[in-house]
Amino acid sequence: MPDTSDGPLRILLVEDSPEDAEIVQRGLRRSRRVPPPDLAHVSCLEEALDRLGADAFDFVLLDLSLPDSSGTETFAAVHEQVPGIPIVVMTGLDDEELGAQLVREGAQDYIVKGEVRGASLHRVVRHAFERHRNRIALEQAREDALEAARAKSDFLSAMSHEIRTPLNSVLGMADLLLETGLTAEQGRYVGALSNAGETLLELINGILDLSKAQAGMLKLDASPFELETLLESTLEVLAYTAHKKDLTLAYEIHPDVTRGLVGDRARLRQIVINLVGNAIKFTDQGEIVLSVTPAGDSDDEGRLRFSVRDTGIGIPPDKLSDVFERFCQVDSQATRTRGGTGLGLAISKELVERMDGQMSVESEPGVGSTFSFTARFGIDQTATSSPATSPDGRRALVADDSPTERRILRALIERHGLQVHEVERSSEAVAELLRARKSGQPYAYAFLDCRMPEVGGFRAVRELHDDGFGPERVVILLNTNHRPGDVSECERLGLHGWLLKPTTESHLSVLLDERTIDTAHTGQPDELPPLRILLVDDSPDNRALVCAYLEGTPHQVETAADGAEAVARFKENLHDLVLMDMQMPVMDGCAATRTIRAWEAQEGRERTPILALTAYAFAEERAKSADAGCDAHLTKPIRKAELLEAIVSAVGSSRVIVEVDEEIRDLVPGYLENRRTDVEKLRQAVETEDHGTVRTLGHNMKGTGGGYGFDPISQIGAVLEQAAKQGEWDGIRMALDELSEYLERVQVAE
Ligand code: ADP
Repeated sequence: MPDTSDGPLRILLVEDSPEDAEIVQRGLRRSRRVPPPDLAHVSCLEEALDRLGADAFDFVLLDLSLPDSSGTETFAAVHEQVPGIPIVVMTGLDDEELGAQLVREGAQDYIVKGEVRGASLHRVVRHAFERHRNRIALEQAREDALEAARAKSDFLSAMSHEIRTPLNSVLGMADLLLETGLTAEQGRYVGALSNAGETLLELINGILDLSKAQAGMLKLDASPFELETLLESTLEVLAYTAHKKDLTLAYEIHPDVTRGLVGDRARLRQIVINLVGNAIKFTDQGEIVLSVTPAGDSDDEGRLRFSVRDTGIGIPPDKLSDVFERFCQVDSQATRTRGGTGLGLAISKELVERMDGQMSVESEPGVGSTFSFTARFGIDQTATSSPATSPDGRRALVADDSPTERRILRALIERHGLQVHEVERSSEAVAELLRARKSGQPYAYAFLDCRMPEVGGFRAVRELHDDGFGPERVVILLNTNHRPGDVSECERLGLHGWLLKPTTESHLSVLLDERTIDTAHTGQPDELPPLRILLVDDSPDNRALVCAYLEGTPHQVETAADGAEAVARFKENLHDLVLMDMQMPVMDGCAATRTIRAWEAQEGRERTPILALTAYAFAEERAKSADAGCDAHLTKPIRKAELLEAIVSAVGSSRVIVEVDEEIRDLVPGYLENRRTDVEKLRQAVETEDHGTVRTLGHNMKGTGGGYGFDPISQIGAVLEQAAKQGEWDGIRMALDELSEYLERVQVAE
């Protein structure tokens, strides 16, 4: 852009009337304060376009009615010829509307002929030019700022990766150290080390997220998801922390909210985790309730409002507007004891704004806070929702001391067509159930909270049993940190089932037994047969959680509390799948997996898929479990949908079933065994860089694999032979890994 702040403006005046041209020229020259412009004059469009093509002008003063063009066409032609140049159009007295229209289309300004003359004409032109220049400078500055933000974000992303890698090792090592026999004092120090590392990791992730959002680099995903499933799996993770603090955690989705949405589920999850996580952090007693309601009109059903209400410490009014600022922590003392980075809300606010929504907060110190946000989602037209069932005369009793939990469970149960009666205490529940039995109209279901003041749900059941087994199906409501043994107690007492809080629609429908499990809901494909699953974990809570996830699926779960027990159970029952915790006392997951793999090989049994469960997604841990013989890896905290997906892919993909001709059937095991020996020979050949052996073995496989029905062996053989000829050792290694994996998975059809 030419800098004309001091020098004369180079103006092209396009005007066919000699008189009007003269008036304008005089007016422009009469200014005393600034140098007169360098003025060129033409009187038709064709000439104007020629001059603009030949010389550099700063400005065009354009009459719209020319002999060879008129009105908007005149403007469009000049605008197109030199798109960046500022243009002030001149209209007749009766054409003012046209001038205004052209300003909307990109002209700098318009002058009504005869109204502006002399020095003021000069001023109009000068100001129009200044405005133009400022706009361009502003655009450039914005572009520069964005570019700088992008560079900062790139730098942060590279740096955070560099910091994260060693930090992960520090955390992993601290974890391993905690497993060794430490004194109480040493344990405390290592625990503090681990906590500080976690906070640092959180901080790095937060800074990275925020800088990405501010550099406009945050891309939101738009894929279909089920709102309820997403909230369910998100809250399952948070429930444990809430229940440990004895807090009620509940959620409710308004019946008018569309469940099948399109949007960025991971980011929505991040916001919910942040808000509910804060609510748990800053609440010492009472409840946290997440509710989702429609936020738009009926023709804008993708617009939703999420509110997280807590009964926590609250926020003073003068601090309310600061909480969304970066690094804001209202009470540094409280934050020191409760942890946090001060970035969560700033990131959530950015994310919400990207989702076309707004975040707000209301709070009263000592009473509680409500953080709300709106967001717009697409609607998944392919999703189906289950309509509410009309009342069918059956009744359910709900006994829970929390009015919020009673209200939410009532709404869920009523959708299944049952009538609900609520009570607050166990004693009332027992009395009401017995009364109903006597009146000949017993309840169909009784939902009893396991923890109520005075007497818990289990005691109530025993009292009821003393009176004889009744017709009602009893369901116990458990907290995620329930006592070990509570689940088996439900079985021992012959109860209908148990529900883990927060109560979810999908778990409830399984218990109410009205519709078979919605396959999309649980991620359970129809074709997966019922599996016998061995769950190995030393933590009773984790066992209960995974059992809860698998409840309602056709699979049978057997549990073991350490590696040694797992090996014994496995040899006895030959499960279809093993879920193996890695860190356990007595015998850890790696050792147990190795023992199982060795036993399978010795017995000539096919390989059973083993999924490793570990606390951290460290590459080293993953490598360790894969080395021991695990097929896949799940990171704790485990989420239901991920678990179900992992099961499907482990069982679905681990076996390659091959049909072989009847005549050669008895030769096949020997053929495959020889190829396994080849793998060993090939590994040695790679070590000694012995091309010849690789080439010969590859050549043999190429020629025989297809004949036995194993086409991939032929293909891998061809690759090996070719790579050996060219001395490509990396290619040979890859083909060798592929071969070894194929041989582990392949199985002959019965
Ligand atoms: P942090 O990681 O410190 O929680 P956030 O940005 O998520 O960072 O929150 C900023 C601050 O806002 C917190 O440190 C806390 O002082 C306040 N705050 C957030 N949520 C709540 C809540 N539910 N109740 C009380 N104070 C809250």
